[in-house]
Amino acid sequence: MTKTLSRRGLLHGALAGALVLGFDPVSRTWITEAQAGRCPPRDRVPRLDGRLRLDAATREAASGDFGYIVQRTPTAVLEPGSVEDVARMVRYARQRRLKIAVRGQAHTTYGQALVDGGIVVDARPLKKIRFLSGGRAVVEAGALWADVVQAAYGRGLTPPVLTDYLGLSVGGTLALGGIGGTASRFGAQVDNVLELEVVTGKGDLETCSPTKNRRLFEATLAGLGQCALIVRATIRLVPAKPKVKVYNLFYADIGTYVADQRMLLASGRFDYLEGQVVPNPSGTGFEYMIEAAAFYKPPHAPNATALLAGLSDDAPRRQIVDQSYLDFAFRVEPLVAFLKSVGAWSLPHPWFAVFVPVSSVAQYIGDLVADLTPDDTGGGPVLFYPFRRSLLRQPLLRAPDEDFFAFNLLRFAPPVPAVVDAMLDHNRDLFDEAVLAGGFQYPLGSIPLGPADWAAHYGPEWAELRSAKRRFDPDNVLTPGQGIF
Ligand SMILES: Cc1cc2nc3c(=O)[nH]c(=O)nc-3n(C[C@H](O)[C@H](O)[C@H](O)COP(=O)(O)OP(=O)(O)OC[C@H]3O[C@@H](n4cnc5c(N)ncnc54)[C@H](O)[C@@H]3O)c2cc1C
Repeated sequence: MTKTLSRRGLLHGALAGALVLGFDPVSRTWITEAQAGRCPPRDRVPRLDGRLRLDAATREAASGDFGYIVQRTPTAVLEPGSVEDVARMVRYARQRRLKIAVRGQAHTTYGQALVDGGIVVDARPLKKIRFLSGGRAVVEAGALWADVVQAAYGRGLTPPVLTDYLGLSVGGTLALGGIGGTASRFGAQVDNVLELEVVTGKGDLETCSPTKNRRLFEATLAGLGQCALIVRATIRLVPAKPKVKVYNLFYADIGTYVADQRMLLASGRFDYLEGQVVPNPSGTGFEYMIEAAAFYKPPHAPNATALLAGLSDDAPRRQIVDQSYLDFAFRVEPLVAFLKSVGAWSLPHPWFAVFVPVSSVAQYIGDLVADLTPDDTGGGPVLFYPFRRSLLRQPLLRAPDEDFFAFNLLRFAPPVPAVVDAMLDHNRDLFDEAVLAGGFQYPLGSIPLGPADWAAHYGPEWAELRSAKRRFDPDNVLTPGQGIF
């Protein structure tokens, strides 16, 4: 039954500017207290523990993302005071055919978290973290991985897989997959989730896991917010070792780099395995860098001879860094702080991210890098590192059928529309070539895609995803910014 706003809700609404009473289905506008007489009980917004905001500043703040390429302004922003608020607003939105999506940190780059004329759920207030026995934590969707890492480390634990940058929401990365250097040992973040609490597109608050409601679980993890919104996740934690030894090995030749990465991946001797395409020291082009790390507890320092045995002699330049686990986990923070201080953090980011099978990666990336210029990246990092296919178990995290490499062109563009458009076109061309090479997009980036691309992306999973969508979000209200349905 729809209830009227609570006193607390009234106060919050008032503080947020106009007090929202309901939504007029005819004019498709919100009814505020000034027009109270016009709001029949059936149109009233439900009682909320948080608040629904209509003010221009809040809607404007929810209208863009880290890409700084597209802008879509919502008609309202929910600041949930509880996970039940999310269910209440999804039910309300569904009845009125309003689109609704969660905004974690909006660190996707092409409008994926945006909702034109609908409702954005700002996940940030949902940030509680509760530790359970047996190396588990129940985390609300808006919590940052940075906070999870800090809190877990105080208990001698860590999430098994971390993203490189930790200022991302737990719900946001679980909606995509969540990859990082320890995925070579543990799979993606979505492979380390024990249970989820979600709100389906029907507005039902449900619990799901590999053994309970499995279909919903699998439609949600890496599900890009299409069937359900994550409100809580029970995640696995593993013991954290206090120190990290990082080995950076530089290669001129892609074939040797790929061979050595594959050898390290297969041997499993490092805890963490990433890599990059970096400018070469002569400034004439690019070279390849393995970034491999071993976690340890002093006095048991890693044995460098054993770790690096069997690598090609083509990597004469080596750098070794010894640091604390937390410094390692937060290693990109100083760079982010610098980029923010010079304004580069809010430049356009037409990012490109794909998974390319090992069998075609040297050819595909070798050709791509041969044509790459510093202007193409704008100084942004180019990540390039391997994965074991057998460790990825969630069906909607699409990847090649064999071991593969992630390739991420994390571009920074000048705020010039023509330049950004050219980069988007370039992304599309690179994507088409990646598909021909057996690759898949990792959907954080800015690749112009149409419905046929999504059907091809999901391939054998497409029929099940469409069927799950019909069942869990029958009115297609969830997460329009992905452009899938
Ligand atoms: C600097 C930087 C570094 C990054 N590093 C990595 C990395 O190392 N590894 C990696 O895997 N990714 C990385 N990413 C990409 C990142 O994982 C995605 O952009 C992710 O979506 C970010 O989380 P977010 O909280 O910003 O999500 P948002 O961008 O807010 O949301 C992403 C999508 O998921 C939906 N969504 C958000 N929350 C939920 C929820 N609770 N339930 C259902 N759907 C939801 C949104 O509606 C949107 O469609 C990086 C991005 C940036 C900008």
